[in-house]
Amino acid sequence: MARGKSRLWMVILILILALLGAGAFYIWPHLEGNPPQVALEKPLKYLGKSNTVFLRVSDQGSGLSWVRVTMLQNERKGVVLNQAFDAPGAPVASLKLAINPLEMGMRQGKATLVVEAADRSWSDWMKGNLVVQEFPVMVDTTPPRVSSLSQIVRINRGGAGLAAYTVNEADARHGVKVGDRIYVGWSPWPQQPNTKLCYFAYAEDQPKGENIDLWAEDMAGNKALQPLNVKVRWKKFRTDVINLNDRFMNKVAARFTSLIPPDRQTSLAKFLWVNQDLRQKNNAKISQESLPSQAYQLWQNTLERPLGARKAAFGDRRKYVLNKEVVSRSVHLGQDLAHTERSPVKAAGKGIVRYAADLGIYGNCVILSHGQGVASLYGHLSAIRVKKGDEVKRGQVIGLSGMTGLALGDHLHFSVLVGGVFVNPTEWWDPHWVKDNILLRFSEAGLPQPLPPAQQ
Ligand SMILES: [Zn+2]
Repeated sequence: MARGKSRLWMVILILILALLGAGAFYIWPHLEGNPPQVALEKPLKYLGKSNTVFLRVSDQGSGLSWVRVTMLQNERKGVVLNQAFDAPGAPVASLKLAINPLEMGMRQGKATLVVEAADRSWSDWMKGNLVVQEFPVMVDTTPPRVSSLSQIVRINRGGAGLAAYTVNEADARHGVKVGDRIYVGWSPWPQQPNTKLCYFAYAEDQPKGENIDLWAEDMAGNKALQPLNVKVRWKKFRTDVINLNDRFMNKVAARFTSLIPPDRQTSLAKFLWVNQDLRQKNNAKISQESLPSQAYQLWQNTLERPLGARKAAFGDRRKYVLNKEVVSRSVHLGQDLAHTERSPVKAAGKGIVRYAADLGIYGNCVILSHGQGVASLYGHLSAIRVKKGDEVKRGQVIGLSGMTGLALGDHLHFSVLVGGVFVNPTEWWDPHWVKDNILLRFSEAGLPQPLPPAQQ
C-alpha cells in the first residue's frame, strides 16, 4: 500500500513540475528585459514657432505599450504627445510631433524634450521596460530681421539684379524671392558676417507684377520676408518663325538618334522630342550645374563679349510652323555669335570649370562658375580645351567654336546664368550696366567689391 501511495505522490510531483515548466515556458518570453528604442528622424537643435518633428520608437521584444513626449523648461511643462498602443503592442511607431513652444507657455532659451516609452513586457510587475530619453533643445521663435542696403534696384525683364542687405542672425539662410523663384544669397565679407548679397533675375518667362522680396530663415525655421524696392523695365522679345520641312527635321533627328525614344517614329515626333523634351532636360541640367559656387566674386569689370556677329539674341521667341500650323515653340536663352569656323573661344571672366562635356542640344559645352551663383556657358563647341574643376583666367582659350548639338552652322552659343536662371548676357558685357547695377550696390552701401579675401 505504502508503495502505491508514494507512486501517486511521484505522479503528482511530476505533474506539478510539468505545469511549472509549461508556465515558465509561457511566461518567460513575457519577461524580456529590453526597453524600447527611441530616435529622432533628424538631429534637433532648435524649436521655432511651430515645428514638425518625426520620432521613431521601436520594440522588437514584446512591442510598444505607450509613448509619452513632454517638454520641460524650468518649472514649465507641456505635453506634446500621449499615445497608448492596443494589445499585442506595436513593434515600431513613426510618430509625428507638432510642437508649439509658445502655446505651451515656453520662453526663448534652453528646454528639454523628454520621450518616455514602455513595452508590453511583464517585467517590473507588469509595468514593462521603460525608456526615458532627453533631447536638449533651444527655443527660438523670433524671426530673423532682414533689411536692404539699397535705395532702388532696377532690373530688365530677362535681366539680372543684385541686392545687398543685412540679416541680424549671421547663420540664417537668406536671399531674394521673385514670384515663386528662390535665389540664395552669399556672405562674401568676412569682417561683416551679417552683410549679404544675392544675385537674382526677373526671368524671361515670368509674368508682369511678380512680388520681389528679401527672405531669411533661421536655424529654428523662423521665416522673414521684406519687400525689396525694385523697378522692372518691361521689354518685348522678338519672335521668329521657323518653317519646318522633312529634310530639316530629319537632319535634326539624325544628330540625336541614340537619344530619341524609339516610340517617336515620324520625323515631326522626333523633332518635337529634341526641340521640347531634350531642350527642357538640357536647360534643367545647366541650371543645376551652374549653381555650386564660391561666396566671392571671381570676375571683374565685365564678362568679356566673345568675338563674332550676332545671329540670334537672348529671349528670342521661336515659332515652328509646319503646313501653316504652329507645331512647337521655344525660347532662345543666350546669344549666338558667329566668327570664323573653329575660332578660339575664351573664358568671359575668371572662373572654375563646372562642366566640360556633351550637353544635348548645346553640343560640346563648357560651363564656368564666376562665384556667387554667376555662371557663363559656351555651346556647340567643336573642341573642349578644359576639364571640370580647372580654374581659368579671363581670356583663356577653353575651346573652339563649332556646330555640335542643335546648330546648323559654326557659331558660339553664349549664355549667362544667375542663381540657376538664364539672363540676358548683353548686360554683363556692358561696363555701364555693371557700374549702375552691380558696383553701385556696393558703393551706396559703403562696401568693398566682394572679391576673394586676399584681394579685398
Ligand atoms: Zn544659341
